[in-house]
Amino acid sequence: MKRMYVLVALCAVIAGCAISTQQEVQMGQSYASQLNSTLPVVTDPEVQQYINQLGDSIAKLTGRADLDWHFFVVNTDVVNAFALPGGFIYVNRGVIERADKMDELAGVMGHEIGHVVKRHSVKQMQQQQGANIGVALTCVLTHVCDSQASQAAIQVGGAAVFASFSRQDEKEADEEGFKNVVRAGISPKGLVTFFQKLMAEEKGGGSPVDAWFSDHPLTQDRIADVQQLIDHLDPAVLNSLTEDTQAYHRFKDRVHALPPGPKPQQATP
Ligand SMILES: [Zn+2]
Repeated sequence: MKRMYVLVALCAVIAGCAISTQQEVQMGQSYASQLNSTLPVVTDPEVQQYINQLGDSIAKLTGRADLDWHFFVVNTDVVNAFALPGGFIYVNRGVIERADKMDELAGVMGHEIGHVVKRHSVKQMQQQQGANIGVALTCVLTHVCDSQASQAAIQVGGAAVFASFSRQDEKEADEEGFKNVVRAGISPKGLVTFFQKLMAEEKGGGSPVDAWFSDHPLTQDRIADVQQLIDHLDPAVLNSLTEDTQAYHRFKDRVHALPPGPKPQQATP
């Protein structure tokens, strides 16, 4: 076991040590099962069905259609969404409550799916040089982490690895998000209107949208970049894309009717 740890830790600090899709999925599964036992994940079957349908309709047309994608709604007002490697996407209730149209939720999901398609967290792990990553990787790949100390290391390492991407990665995920929704027949305008809404809501400090801004620094530049992509679309194509559906509003009403989740500071990973 010790030898395995050294090997994997070494592997983690040597650039170019490739992580296979199978390892990526194993890692995602391991983190997902931990998160699902810690986070207030919504178990309502209708809510689960809708988020998976919408997610699959976008993800199954990407270059990583082969992945077994999973989508979860987390019952917290904290406005955030995040992706684990291997195709596990989490969307907080706070996002859904603010998404007035289907294309806004789809835009957020398209962005998170983009992080997975571009393997941003895998790339980060391959580049990162730190003991936490070695520990986290070892735990996941060898299943030796039973002690509480190791679990804590996973939490810390996991949060650091999977929650913060570089600005370049965010820009790339925006571009992917745009392509992902258009390919699925959904209007990309929701990306822009949702980002604008968050920008308007953020007053700095104590706002429910702060989490989004710490994980996905939003700037006018990012919004302008997506708008530019939209402006280059054929207007006939743009007008043919779906902005909203009745099914989305049934889903949103259902989410809105859920009992409130635990307090935000307990709910964020
Ligand atoms: Zn992002």
